[in-house]
Amino acid sequence: MNPFELPALVQRIFDDRDVSPDVQAILRQPDKSLGVSVPLRRDDGSLAVFPGWRVQYDKTLGPAKGGVRFHPAVDEGECTLLAFWMTVKCALHALPFGGGKGGIRVDPKKLSPLEVERLSRNYITAVADIIGPDRDIPAPDVNTDARVMGWMADEYADIRRSHQPAAVTGKPVCLGGSEGRAQATGRGALIVLDNWMKRQGRTPRQTRIAVQGFGNAGSHFACLAHEAGYRVVAVSDSQAAIHDPDGLEPRRLFDYKEREKELSGALYAGRSVKEGDGGKEIDQAALLSLDVDVLVLAAMENAITGDNAAAVRAPLLLEIANGPVSPDGDAALTGAGKTVLPDVLVNAGGVTVSYYEWIQGRTGERWSEGKVIDQLTQRMQDTAGRCFDRAEEERLQVREAAYVLAIERIAHAIRSRGDRS
Ligand code: GLU
Repeated sequence: MNPFELPALVQRIFDDRDVSPDVQAILRQPDKSLGVSVPLRRDDGSLAVFPGWRVQYDKTLGPAKGGVRFHPAVDEGECTLLAFWMTVKCALHALPFGGGKGGIRVDPKKLSPLEVERLSRNYITAVADIIGPDRDIPAPDVNTDARVMGWMADEYADIRRSHQPAAVTGKPVCLGGSEGRAQATGRGALIVLDNWMKRQGRTPRQTRIAVQGFGNAGSHFACLAHEAGYRVVAVSDSQAAIHDPDGLEPRRLFDYKEREKELSGALYAGRSVKEGDGGKEIDQAALLSLDVDVLVLAAMENAITGDNAAAVRAPLLLEIANGPVSPDGDAALTGAGKTVLPDVLVNAGGVTVSYYEWIQGRTGERWSEGKVIDQLTQRMQDTAGRCFDRAEEERLQVREAAYVLAIERIAHAIRSRGDRS
């Protein structure tokens, strides 16, 4: 049974805008969903088997594109929703990709690095029949980083018995990864925030930011925002939150967490921001209701729901995670006059630089970091401008404007491909 229900926002757009029944029928469910059992020989010799999935939601605009996450909450429904969001995100940013997502239901923090490597390779073996540079291109997501992508890319090349630099993105630069990919999600989010702030006539110096989540996206965002002059007054990770009204130094916290990983060879940081010598420890939930100008959500889904939305004091929320505000949370926030800059617009820096990596993998070119940043800036500015203009013209929330733009593009492409039934 298909565990997916189309988000109510999308159904409303279909109804309000007379989207053709064919387009609606095509976009109502995923194109393909593969469930797999991923075996892992543990270091102690025992065998464990973990459930995994790869979902390709829609491939009208190009091969499916999206990350692979390792997390205990992964299931088919979550992968499907995330693959749907990737479809919207790629369409909105005019990338030549459809949407995909995969994952394994596992707590990788309980595995050794060698176990994570074996699991990553076995996942690729399990889904190899449906992925590839012209079919579906995996990338990093929650708890998967460049090292994991390196193993996945290596395994895929072994299976195909040929060099396949465009089959997986987010790889280490020495294995054909792109310069600037690691920082790309955080950088892209900052470009969108800057654009919004300029429109409001505000400067970074006047802007206090709290960041929930200090993983790849949140930590790079915090460092870059600080360097651009914003005041980052609070950050949290999975263990704790810290606050300093005068401003933290995110780079120091980042170096503190990273150094330990480098020294120990661990894949996941054992250290928390609370030990990083900055700020006073506060409750993690209290970070969400701090008196700040921007609340950045860079952790997991459903950080803000109908239950805690009323406690949010920030007038502006920036979604760097996928789906950090639930639909009822969104209704409560926007009903209270707050602005939510949505995930599909804000966090596309990662997949955009994945696109640049894919181009480099196919052509053999190497782009400089400067070129990556210039191209990313141009594309994110352009999309943000189109979303904000559309929202203003039609008096829509930015999320709805983003979805309208994406659905228009996909619908146009579906119609242009003709009747394939
Ligand atoms: N996992 C990231 C996302 O949700 C990046 C996907 C990619 O690079 O393909 O957008």
